[in-house]
Amino acid sequence: MENIYRPIKAKVENIIQETPNIKTFVLRPEEPMRFAAGQFMQVTYPGIGEAPFTPSSSMYQTETLEFSIMKAGQVTSLLHEQLKVGEYVGLRGPLGKGYEIDKWHGKEVFVVGGGVGLAPLRALLLALFHNINNYKKLYIRFGGRSPQDLSYKEQLKTWEKKDKIDMVVSVDRGDEKWKGKVGIVTTILEGSGIDPKNAVAIVCGPPIMMKFVTLKLVDLGFADNTIYLSMEKNMSCGVGKCFHCNVGPHLACKDGPVFTWDKVKVIPDPF
Ligand SMILES: Cc1cc2nc3c(=O)[nH]c(=O)nc-3n(C[C@H](O)[C@H](O)[C@H](O)COP(=O)(O)OP(=O)(O)OC[C@H]3O[C@@H](n4cnc5c(N)ncnc54)[C@H](O)[C@@H]3O)c2cc1C
Repeated sequence: MENIYRPIKAKVENIIQETPNIKTFVLRPEEPMRFAAGQFMQVTYPGIGEAPFTPSSSMYQTETLEFSIMKAGQVTSLLHEQLKVGEYVGLRGPLGKGYEIDKWHGKEVFVVGGGVGLAPLRALLLALFHNINNYKKLYIRFGGRSPQDLSYKEQLKTWEKKDKIDMVVSVDRGDEKWKGKVGIVTTILEGSGIDPKNAVAIVCGPPIMMKFVTLKLVDLGFADNTIYLSMEKNMSCGVGKCFHCNVGPHLACKDGPVFTWDKVKVIPDPF
């Protein structure tokens, strides 16, 4: 019988400092590990602990996986401070459900993110770019606290030039070099020309951002079941046994971590 708790060994091939508090860890698992954009894995730091993260790399890149991890508490701080290239971690997964990208064919896709929320969204965007002709147009709206706090700076520049992409990046506070927009991410959602009747919106970021972006999207005319939200709840087992990650009647680890707003809005204080 398959052991759902068995981690697969993965070697750290590279560590990229994305922002002052986010690092991307490039991992090479000893066995092939496939995932769908939006699914997550439990990353074990031997002797320290385990925490859930969503791969930020393309699901079509199968030999190495990338995880962009923000320093938040015990496990993430030690991953940042102690884990070195050449060492090993464990990977358990893929867990949860991926984004329903096949359901979005022919539609406009509005992707809104902030902070470390750009990690799962990078995996999503790379999957959408892979078959870009399946989608009518892609709108990307990313926010960060400052230019230094934006992950994937070089990639953002190349995405912006792609066909069928309309991208706006904003920061709460600019600096002398910043030429883009200044303002919180909700200020760059209007005026895109998107038709919410033939569109889906995907949101991932800090809880407060998710809340106000969702309210804005509803205001712009997006139907509740077309707004996809990443509910990154405190999680333990990752496989639907411990019930630590309940989102109302649902479990983020099994039924999510992505839920549409119609499922989440009925729960008191969902973010
Ligand atoms: C499905 C899923 C995917 C995720 N993907 C990513 C990712 O790609 N990159 C990334 O940086 N982070 C991601 N996270 C969040 C990440 O799992 C937490 O930051 C991590 O578990 C914190 O572990 P820690 O031991 O460092 O912090 P702890 O010492 O356990 O906690 C530090 C503080 O953070 C709070 N906390 C812990 N976990 C969470 C959580 N999941 N949500 C909100 N607050 C939390 C604790 O209550 C505490 O206040 C994801 C979470 C989930 C559930």
